[in-house]
Amino acid sequence: MSFFNRLRDHPYLLEVTYQVTEQVVNALQPLWRRMGYDRAEALFRTPEKIGKGAVFNCKMCGQCTLHYTGMTCPMSCPKNLRNGPCGGVRLGGYCEVDATMKCVWVEVFERSQKMKIYGDDIYQIQPPLNQQNMDRSAFMNIAFMKSAEIPEAWKTETGLSHEQK
Ligand code: SF4
Repeated sequence: MSFFNRLRDHPYLLEVTYQVTEQVVNALQPLWRRMGYDRAEALFRTPEKIGKGAVFNCKMCGQCTLHYTGMTCPMSCPKNLRNGPCGGVRLGGYCEVDATMKCVWVEVFERSQKMKIYGDDIYQIQPPLNQQNMDRSAFMNIAFMKSAEIPEAWKTETGLSHEQK
């Protein structure tokens, strides 16, 4: 088992790292505002891609769910499911599409049960992925509320909402 897999299987350190990073990003909001989205996002994009790519096999969806999904990237699911398994999980918890890999959602659930800080976040429903946020820094998308924006084409008379905790 790889070092990073072991780290994800014992997610407390990852939770704390996420929590601290989020607090720092929030505390520096005035700085990001002064820089503007384009420059701040460009500054974060590459380190985020390298760091999260190594630890989580991040696909830079720009709308990060890690603390909602057991510090496990749901974009590793061949179907990119962000709200639970597809129903085709094989015996032993293996993926329907790729029988050599564990179902990402089995890992999400198992790891979320070990999470002391964000473990209950798994019960929150995730909004659809806005592809316009792809390949952008998720931290800056959160800081500038881009991940909560609803594309015009999605709006309905009933009022779609993406509010998250
Ligand atoms: S949810 Fe998105 S931003 Fe977060 S690790 Fe996965 S691909 Fe990267």
